[in-house]
Amino acid sequence: TRYVYRFGGGVNDGGNGNKNLLGGKGANLDGMASIGLPVPPGFTITTEMCTRYYVDGEVYPDSLNAEVAGGIAHIEGVTGKRFGDQADPLLVSVRSGARVSMPGMMDTVLNLGLNDRTVIGLASASGDERFAWDSYRRFIQMYSDVVLELDHGAFEEALEIAKEDQGYTLDTEMTADDWKGLVAEYKTIVEKQWGKPFPQDVNDQLWGAISAVFGSWQADRAKVYRRLNDIPGDWGTAVNVQAMVFGNMGDTSATGVAFTRDPATGENVYYGEFLINAQGEDVVAGIRTPQYLTTAARERAGAKPLSMEEAMPETYAELAKVFNILETHYRDMQDIEFTVQQGKLWMLQTRSGKRTAKAALKIAVDMAGEGLITQEEAVARVDPAALDQLLHPTLDPKAPRDVLTKGLPASPGAASGIVVFDADTAERRNELGDAVILVRTETSPEDIHGMHAAKGILTARGGMTSHAAVVARGMGRPCVSGAGSMSIDAKAKTLRIGGRELTEGDIVTIDGSTGEVMAGEVPTVQPELAGDFGTLMVWADKVRRLRVRANAETPQDCKTAREFGAEGVGLCRTEHMFFDAARITAVRQMILADSEKGRRDALEKLLPEQRDDFAQIFMVMAGLPVTIRLLDPPLHEFLPHEEAEFAEVAKAAGVGVDELRRRASELHEFNPMLGHRGCRLGVTYPEIYEMQARAIFEAALIVKKRSGAAPIPEVMIPLVATRRELELMKAIVDRVAQEVFAEQADSVEYLTGTMIELPRAALKAGEIAEVGEFFSFGTNDLTQTTIGISRDDAGRFLGSYVDKGIFPRDPFVSIDVEGVGELIELAAERGRKTRPGIKLGICGEHGGDPASIAFCEQTGLDYVSASPYRVPIARLAAAQAAL
Ligand code: PEP
Ligand code: MG
Repeated sequence: TRYVYRFGGGVNDGGNGNKNLLGGKGANLDGMASIGLPVPPGFTITTEMCTRYYVDGEVYPDSLNAEVAGGIAHIEGVTGKRFGDQADPLLVSVRSGARVSMPGMMDTVLNLGLNDRTVIGLASASGDERFAWDSYRRFIQMYSDVVLELDHGAFEEALEIAKEDQGYTLDTEMTADDWKGLVAEYKTIVEKQWGKPFPQDVNDQLWGAISAVFGSWQADRAKVYRRLNDIPGDWGTAVNVQAMVFGNMGDTSATGVAFTRDPATGENVYYGEFLINAQGEDVVAGIRTPQYLTTAARERAGAKPLSMEEAMPETYAELAKVFNILETHYRDMQDIEFTVQQGKLWMLQTRSGKRTAKAALKIAVDMAGEGLITQEEAVARVDPAALDQLLHPTLDPKAPRDVLTKGLPASPGAASGIVVFDADTAERRNELGDAVILVRTETSPEDIHGMHAAKGILTARGGMTSHAAVVARGMGRPCVSGAGSMSIDAKAKTLRIGGRELTEGDIVTIDGSTGEVMAGEVPTVQPELAGDFGTLMVWADKVRRLRVRANAETPQDCKTAREFGAEGVGLCRTEHMFFDAARITAVRQMILADSEKGRRDALEKLLPEQRDDFAQIFMVMAGLPVTIRLLDPPLHEFLPHEEAEFAEVAKAAGVGVDELRRRASELHEFNPMLGHRGCRLGVTYPEIYEMQARAIFEAALIVKKRSGAAPIPEVMIPLVATRRELELMKAIVDRVAQEVFAEQADSVEYLTGTMIELPRAALKAGEIAEVGEFFSFGTNDLTQTTIGISRDDAGRFLGSYVDKGIFPRDPFVSIDVEGVGELIELAAERGRKTRPGIKLGICGEHGGDPASIAFCEQTGLDYVSASPYRVPIARLAAAQAAL
């Protein structure tokens, strides 16, 4: 097997990039080389090598040595310099590069190949002694940090002291001799911390860096990131070794990062930052404030330092040309790193740029409009889960704002929450149910878990391409970065901002679309659903087969659902209507009654209320099917649980406190989820389902008269296990329907069906379909009863189950395809055999989960039903599943 692929200098061994083999970065370097863009020569060690390295017990095959040497020879051939040469040394960068970009892994070592002797060669070859020694100290610092994993604080401190001693404030004031002195200090620090002198052999340096990249694949941070993002552990990472080019060789040199379109808004304008006379990490690290790429962006921001367009017009024009070539080649928005060395442009990296949901949408729709991609590709490009960001409220523009400061609008959306200063606290407080804003000077890959737990992220340093900004956009968390007027004391847990001091637990609001940071909680408004969002939804609707309904039980929810494009209600949980303050007393009287007569009297009071609920829902959902589920939860849920409430409730219900207490303890169940609930209530108290059925049909006839459009009720019986249960319940529904139709001399079409929520129901679906006219998979209960894990308590240990790979994802979030999925397939097949064309849907939480929706498409269900806000996600996911 070949493990090393060369690129640059007219060579591209990878044949235009295979991401799985070469990793994202390697594949695109190869790709850029293949279309003739200026890429410094280099080579990629494949991801297969990484996988093999771990399989073999962290050793390399003998052949790798020669292959790597061949790679170095290639770079030497193209550059005319030799690795380790004392007169004019070749320096290289070493970078990791998995299939997908992965924060948490070793990133980059620059200037590799410098040692006590080559630094002198570099000084004379470049004619710039200061540059050479600055490069050497950068190399020692970086190598010590990422390869030797020494404490980087010591190096930073030494630099600070060196500057202080000379009375400097800026790094740029350091002279060649100052750097030389610092290099000596750095070497002492290394020897002290590492126990060995800093490696002088350039090949030792190279292999150290290669092993560090492979080693970082199994670092805890990388594992956490993989778990959060469903990235398999056996993908491995590639290693890219590439000739160094220098952006820090004076004022005709520069380095920068750019997006071919605005990653925040999606606008078709170049977006980027650059620094003159600097090296790559200076831009990302936020040490110096970068300059804008374009004049338009500079002017919009009111910034003074010249844009690249102004400072280096010719190179800028060349760069713009490269942007267009890259977009045409990759047919997507690109995120680029470049360096200008003494006027010559070099491309160091390109990849599909991370973007906000808003930008993803706009870019997909725009590119389809430009003819760069098809409408189907546009549909496939947008991550359904990311739509969440767009569907959620933003700050009410009219609400008063107590603005503390303004930073960069790094990732859009608004979030309020309590201030916390470290990732662990963020995680802990989030688990306790607090909304959290993580406030850091700047974030690093160690903060990933806290960023994930937070509702929003606020940093004092760093630009739009800082770690915080990039990661937050990827996660869909609102983020304000670089709020420079803020000073954080993470130890004391305080934050000085706008002349005020906040402490941990104080509430702030951040607006990631404007960069504003506000004190307290600011109210929000609903999102705008027209424009690009509407266009993409139309395209998605053209390709999807699955229908999308909503789980909704109030007219307001139904309205929201319709606005989001729901094609019916898939689950109206009627018990939610019983909790209404005006009704709960009648509900309790019904529960407390000790005779059928008493229950009927109480139900009589509920009937007009339920009828009114259903009439309103039918009005909103005019002409669309509405699945109404009859009462499901165990009755004790409606009784008070706190002793303090008993007296008041007893009085309201007109019974004694003792009587109430006695009934409550009678109804107590050890295992209520497996108890007296669902159709079991209808079996023992048929009058409850009778009342509900009457309310449904009377409401349907009222709405039919009022609107002319007959509603389409689908009466759904919960928690059925046997054919006989459904038969008994359906008999009630049909009898009441006939009574109401006779009374009113009018009728509507309706269906009576069942939820499939129990393994027995799935197994006996063939028989149950003899009675039931539709099935709706209640995958919340079906998951709970199939795996035997309580849906209410599983959170405590399911994390370990996912960590240990027992389930790929939380089975209550994404269907356990192998287990629960098999029951669904079997029930669908058996149900269809008895009743060809039986209507099949899903109404558990999974109905809004893209992976589960893909499964529903495969199984050929007719519809999925999701909560109103997830309806657009479901529409898009259903379209992608059909593509
Ligand atoms: C289900 O069990 O999947 C379901 C939709 O019903 P509920 O969540 O109300 O139990
Ligand atoms: Mg259920």
